[in-house]
Amino acid sequence: MRIETLSVFPQMFEGPMDASIIGRARRMSKLEFAAHDLRDWTHDRHRSTDDEPFGGGQGQLMKVEPVFEALDDLLADEPAQVLFFTPVGETFTQSIAQQLAREQRLVMVCGRYEGFDERVYTRADRCISLGDYVLTGGELAAMVVTDAVCRLLPGVLGDELSNIEESFHGNLLEYPQYTRPASYRGLSVPEVLLSGDHAKIAAWRRRQSIIRTARLRPDLLPDAELSEQEWDLVRACRRDLADEATSIERSDCER
Ligand code: SAM
Repeated sequence: MRIETLSVFPQMFEGPMDASIIGRARRMSKLEFAAHDLRDWTHDRHRSTDDEPFGGGQGQLMKVEPVFEALDDLLADEPAQVLFFTPVGETFTQSIAQQLAREQRLVMVCGRYEGFDERVYTRADRCISLGDYVLTGGELAAMVVTDAVCRLLPGVLGDELSNIEESFHGNLLEYPQYTRPASYRGLSVPEVLLSGDHAKIAAWRRRQSIIRTARLRPDLLPDAELSEQEWDLVRACRRDLADEATSIERSDCER
């Protein structure tokens, strides 16, 4: 896969794109990465990429022409999925990361200042938000998406099972994990994990994933594939949560 970014701070990608899993994926040629400087597509002495908004208002907007010209050049010889980062885009999820990991080439356009002239979005295949908060620029968003996509590329993670057993796979959160020592300051690892019984361990982990998801992210469950027995477990968790809420309310009233 090839990932390219278009931004006014291409130097921000130095370092994060060289280290750890992404760096290794690049050295293994599983991922090609290039950070383009949007200012290379400006024509004035100051290499301006921003201007005042029509109608007044605070701050500067990213101009339409450099973005259009850059995309004309970058897409001239080879197609790509074009992503724009904006807080008004669809919220990035593991499922979007999986879809993007199937593409041959991604071009990610990163905003700054007060964002883009609205006309740039006519060139977008997808507009992506990292979440309901405002960053100063799209570069960190591009790094997050690159990281999430890169680790899904075949052969990038040593153990292909790593992706399958992680949070959000199958719309469940990951089960709790432990490493040595088995007991630390009175905190012990669940006995079953020390048993060596792989079937029992797998069953315990599945159950813990379901309980955790039911308690912490019940919004994920409608899309999870659960057996009838597992739905019973979800219903039991819901009853426990309701009981906890009632007992908290009761003790508040009694105070
Ligand atoms: N005025 C814009 C608004 O209210 O929607 C915010 C502009 S923000 C300061 C500048 C740039 O940072 C955006 O164009 C976008 O590329 C990036 N950005 C900010 N928050 C983001 C988020 N939650 N997800 C993805 N990109 C974001």
